[in-house]
Amino acid sequence: MIKLHDKYFKPFISEEEIEDVVTRMAAEVANDLGDEIPVFVGILNGSFMLVSDFVKKYPKPCEVTFIKLASYEGVKSTEDIQRLIGLTQDLSNRTVVILEDIIDTGKTLHEVHRIFKNEKVKQLLIATLFYKPEAYKKDFKLHYVGIEIPDKFIVGYGLDYDGLGRDLPAVYQIKTTQHMTNLV
Ligand code: 5GP
Repeated sequence: MIKLHDKYFKPFISEEEIEDVVTRMAAEVANDLGDEIPVFVGILNGSFMLVSDFVKKYPKPCEVTFIKLASYEGVKSTEDIQRLIGLTQDLSNRTVVILEDIIDTGKTLHEVHRIFKNEKVKQLLIATLFYKPEAYKKDFKLHYVGIEIPDKFIVGYGLDYDGLGRDLPAVYQIKTTQHMTNLV
């Protein structure tokens, strides 16, 4: 068990399991895209560890870039999503694969779709390491899902709780039997 700020977290998904899942996802994407060179777009901050591991596992040439969005304060999703760092390269007629650390309500994904609507990409594929089906409120297709998890707050492997925990190589789940909104 670990403590970050005022909350306790218990081990949830090991480093080894994450590595297996990332390897499997990278192979699936490579298999589907054939010889096409994709542009992987990581959503910062949370995806930095995933993107680093994912592109190392990706067995073919690829490009990598990032955009920065924010929708979380503490352990609660907020309504406001700000686009903090935008895209600078021309993505017209390219296959873009979004690499998300986690999809929760889908608000961030909604913003991603809004941003890419104007980019004239060939196709927009969504890959997420973690997915909370009970919390997801949108209809956007998720093309590659690593692990489905319950609607409980997690930290580690890029995901933080108020700035802490991003550096952890494994993933930890908040220690409670209640829904996370009852905690705050
Ligand atoms: P959404 O916009 O889908 O509600 O949330 C997506 C973003 O919220 C993620 O990119 C991540 O930054 C944050 N997020 C969602 N669920 C969790 C969680 O369980 N733990 C942490 N640390 N961040 C989360």
